[in-house]
Amino acid sequence: MKGVVPLSHKKEIEMKLIFLGPPGAGKGTQGKALATKQGLAHISTGDMLRAAIDAGSEIGKEAKSIMDSGQLVPDGLMVEIIRARTKESDCKAGYILDGFPRTIPQAEALKAMLAESGEKLDAVILFEVSESDIQERLAARRAAENRSDDELSVQLERLRVYREKTAPLIDYYRSTGELHSLSGAGSVDVVFAELENLLRGL
Ligand code: ADP
Repeated sequence: MKGVVPLSHKKEIEMKLIFLGPPGAGKGTQGKALATKQGLAHISTGDMLRAAIDAGSEIGKEAKSIMDSGQLVPDGLMVEIIRARTKESDCKAGYILDGFPRTIPQAEALKAMLAESGEKLDAVILFEVSESDIQERLAARRAAENRSDDELSVQLERLRVYREKTAPLIDYYRSTGELHSLSGAGSVDVVFAELENLLRGL
């Protein structure tokens, strides 16, 4: 990777990360930026599902009403999507999982998948943002973007689903020793600098 300063000598070859955090925490923004800079694949399951909907595929048809109501797409489907996606050639240098896993069964499936190929995660990065910041950012996104799952009632449901189904992953990855927390509260640039700093220290 010419012109890219490796974050860590150990991790120069490949880096597999999970970005965890509530809707509005900034995972997508930071994931895109880090992936571009470090030559990693940015795997956003939300973006993949929206692309499937736009393409009118079977997966898209199955996912649309679930997403529009703020619920989670079935674990089995998500696991197969990730299994296929992580085998693509752009994942050889590593990847950032943004939006997966979102449930404990998804995390267990990922663990089994990685174990099968003798791989392991480098880190799970938790983006911590206060409740009031989340509300503010989601309000801004409602105004700026045209996502059918970004109506207020759906956003609130997604936050509830996050707390119920996804937040337990925080303790799950804390107990495996893979969890690293980051404040997602600052500006995009400040958070990015802190993210790079954290990764350098891995
Ligand atoms: P955000 O970035 O706002 O948290 P995403 O764009 O990641 O939201 O996801 C949008 C929707 O896509 C979710 O509300 C959910 O319905 C579906 N989805 C994305 N990833 C997963 C997953 N790993 N498991 C189940 N559903 C998912």
